[in-house]
Amino acid sequence: MEKLQAIRGMNDILPENSLSWQYLESAFQRVIKRFGYQEIRFPVLEHTQLFKRSIGEVTDIVEKEMYSFDDRNGDNLSLRPEGTAGCVRAADQHGLLYNQQQRFWYQGPMFRHERPQKGRYRQFHQFGVEAFGMPGPDIDAEVLQIAAMLWQELDLSDFLTLELNNIGSAEDRANFGSALTEFLQSKEDQLDEDARNRMHTNPMRVLDSKNPDVQAALIDVPLLEDFVSAESKQHYAELQDLLNSASIDFIENPRLVRGLDYYNNCVFEWTTDTLGAQGAVCGGGRYDGLVAQLGGRDVLACGFAIGVERLILMLDSLGKIPQDALQPIDIYVTCIGQNVTKQTLDLAQAIRESQPQLGVISHCGGGKFNSQLKRAFNSGAKIAVILERDGDGESTLETAKIRRLDDSAETASHKIAVIPQKVAEFLEKSES
Ligand code: AMP
Repeated sequence: MEKLQAIRGMNDILPENSLSWQYLESAFQRVIKRFGYQEIRFPVLEHTQLFKRSIGEVTDIVEKEMYSFDDRNGDNLSLRPEGTAGCVRAADQHGLLYNQQQRFWYQGPMFRHERPQKGRYRQFHQFGVEAFGMPGPDIDAEVLQIAAMLWQELDLSDFLTLELNNIGSAEDRANFGSALTEFLQSKEDQLDEDARNRMHTNPMRVLDSKNPDVQAALIDVPLLEDFVSAESKQHYAELQDLLNSASIDFIENPRLVRGLDYYNNCVFEWTTDTLGAQGAVCGGGRYDGLVAQLGGRDVLACGFAIGVERLILMLDSLGKIPQDALQPIDIYVTCIGQNVTKQTLDLAQAIRESQPQLGVISHCGGGKFNSQLKRAFNSGAKIAVILERDGDGESTLETAKIRRLDDSAETASHKIAVIPQKVAEFLEKSES
């Protein structure tokens, strides 16, 4: 029978890789705790309408990348393509945004039907932060500090660049959109069908057209920056000032617009040139209109999302994951001969109780000395504790051996009662 395979673009994370994931997750959680953010969890499935109303009907994500279907009740649902919409829905539904400031973080899988390639998947994972009820730019600087501190924690700061842009308020963008539509109408005969369709629904998308004829028609196109209000410019200048004083380097990128409609004022992306084509590792900005747009009150907001797979790719390729994070097993306790099972289980447990920081595997399933030792080596443990009985005696074993699982094969014998203490000393010695 043909074996079933995973869905294209959806990855299994196998034990050897999940150690890198755990390393990254714990770094993120350490950092986010320092900033006092609280975790929020929300479903992977939502009403499709939520994403249409937030991300925007005429965006790549909503037009062609969502996994949407009618469920058995006939409700049209979608797997979440990003976290902000669900976070806002959940927080507002439970009254967390009413006259309050909130700082949230989340993590989990997101789903987009994109063309899979290195760094781009159909199920991928994000860490995100969302802050509500603060006008900025101090909170904007704070969320950027979180990302910067994470890069520091992971020793990736030298490989990431912060790109910033000011896309203006919703009103500025609406004015710009009208001017753009007017301009595009005057060039209608030079546009392709796609651009003509978008000219009314989402004229800003026409600017990204890959068609050289369309690009040629855009020579004297109005510029967004000419429509950005003085207030928005001031916010942006103040943010830059805060970033300078926090020693967070950035470059301005006037082409940075982001693929989601809900952003306003400052938007940003951290990018790297270590990943090839998929160089965006973290994206975010302000989205002051979104809560109201989804039926809530006027609640100012900003946040970002980090692509976990891309960070893992960076960490792996740059060799930034410390060896001990990749070695979860410290001790392998062997169980050789007759009537040693109970004592083996007891000893492994005694080590765990006395040295709770260590990972201890207790051998199961019997077998000869050599095959057990081979398993001990293969487990990645640093030392083996060897419980071995030659004959078939009934008496309890008095001593066990500790053996270093490297070429030195250094071995020592000790009374079983002191083994938990001795293994810790043995391991410490090898680290110093
Ligand atoms: P976005 O929600 O599009 O702003 O994306 C935020 C971050 O998520 C990006 O900077 C990427 O690191 C990551 N990301 C977005 N789409 C994908 C994807 N299809 N596969 C892997 N990572 C992604």
